Amino acid sequence: HALPSDPDRSGQRRQVRGAAYSFVTPRVPSQPTLLHAAADVAAMIGLSEEDLKSKRFTDVFSGAIVPEGADPYAMCYGGHQFGNWAGQLGDGRAINLAEVSHEGVRHTLQLKGAGETPYSRMADGLAVLRSSLREHLCSEAMFHLGVATTRSLSLIATGDAVLRDVMYDGHPEYEPGAVVCRVAPSFIRFGSFEILASRGEIDLLRQLADYTIGHYFPTLDADAPDYIEFFREVSQRTMAMIVDWQRVGFVHGVMNTDNMSIHGVTIDYGPYGWLEGYDHGWTPNTTDRQHRRYRYGNQPQIALWNLAQLASAISPLVDDVQPLRDVLEDFQQEFPKRYFEMMAAKIGLDRFQAGDEALCNDLEDVLQLTETDMTIFFRRLASIPSDLDLQRGVEFLQPVADAFYDPAQVTGEVLERWRGWFTSYTERLRQSEETQPQRVARMNAVNPKYVLRNYMAQMAIDKATQGDLSLIDELYDLLRDPYAEQPDRETWFAKRPDWARDKVGCSM
Ligand code: AMP
Ligand code: MG
Ligand code: MG
Repeated sequence: HALPSDPDRSGQRRQVRGAAYSFVTPRVPSQPTLLHAAADVAAMIGLSEEDLKSKRFTDVFSGAIVPEGADPYAMCYGGHQFGNWAGQLGDGRAINLAEVSHEGVRHTLQLKGAGETPYSRMADGLAVLRSSLREHLCSEAMFHLGVATTRSLSLIATGDAVLRDVMYDGHPEYEPGAVVCRVAPSFIRFGSFEILASRGEIDLLRQLADYTIGHYFPTLDADAPDYIEFFREVSQRTMAMIVDWQRVGFVHGVMNTDNMSIHGVTIDYGPYGWLEGYDHGWTPNTTDRQHRRYRYGNQPQIALWNLAQLASAISPLVDDVQPLRDVLEDFQQEFPKRYFEMMAAKIGLDRFQAGDEALCNDLEDVLQLTETDMTIFFRRLASIPSDLDLQRGVEFLQPVADAFYDPAQVTGEVLERWRGWFTSYTERLRQSEETQPQRVARMNAVNPKYVLRNYMAQMAIDKATQGDLSLIDELYDLLRDPYAEQPDRETWFAKRPDWARDKVGCSM
């Protein structure tokens, strides 16, 4: 607790000035029940499989018991929501329980849904089983995909009913409540800096920047903090994260600046979704269906926009803002390069060379002519031989045919576009010395076979709501090894069923 804290422990909702966080007490749940725990996250913080089974584990990570030495707190931050400055937001339903150090690595443990804080505004500080289960499973799925993310230790039902929707007939609708314990180096966000800059609390802004650099950016000099280098590092980490999102087809859905981690890790799994049909215009967020600000294809631009907000927030700390602008400029220059390298790897090119950009762009266009499953397409693409026979009818598409949602649409001009693309693609493959098994191995390491499709999470929610936790376990196990062939689980390597079209979870 090296940063100034809010002296007021009343918990009253208000504007908290001159402090980075407020001490709070988690709400005691009426009947905490462990639904799932991630053993490898537990191991990361020094807990054994045995520990996970104890009542104490469930008590501590549901907020029922505050462990000795812990002084839980909620953080103050602001943010730009959908492009507009929203003022103070803060941890309205997240409480940092403790920071722990294990094997030389520091982790912050955060309960999400453990009750109100001074930052709860009009809401209740709670989370429902539906959204908590989605966050728990997706955090771990993302980690095992190799995407930078907060982790999720546990999913615990509180035994309390949470009011979420008032039905059209005026009847209130309650849902089961839950608490997730998230784990990250820290939960400092772009918005943590923005709120201080917006209030002119420049001393505190500097303290926060120095604290962040000193604790979490070991490659930077803590004694002479260089805010430009800090910003460059955040920009680089953010870029790497976004390239990975695009690679696996993850759409965050609410890339507000308060949902951007200073560590460049994916944070705040709300109305996120996974691309089924490859579509740059798709967003899972039903409240963003008009402008589609946070659509898949716009995520890189939004990351840059958010970085610009961070740059502006820390600008009072530097004499000359030009170097901050240069970092943003570098992002703009470098991102396309990283992106095309990633795409080239997805289609199995051994290196990125002149002309490959057109090949990638062309593929993106053809993929969007008819609804084509991203995961299945890229995974199956590895089975295309470089001497593919392109002469006859539709036969050449056989290896990837499973990816088409409506194969009947793949005729005429669309079919010829595919023939054209595969002609260029196989020509390009023939320029490589690599054997097909070598290419397959490389492609399978970047094209996941299993992702948390929106309907899969929904099925796990439906079952869990009826008391059946088996699908949580099944999906958790499946997604721990997303690049591997798992012959017993081929059922999850399938297109979204028709009933699930456009059914995605919700942010609350
Ligand atoms: P989000 O869009 O989920 O990132 O949330 C934006 C802001 O609303 C953050 O400050 C959250 O802490 C707050 N918030 C969201 N849901 C709740 C809730 N149920 N209770 C209190 N605060 C919430
Ligand atoms: Mg948030
Ligand atoms: Mg949220």
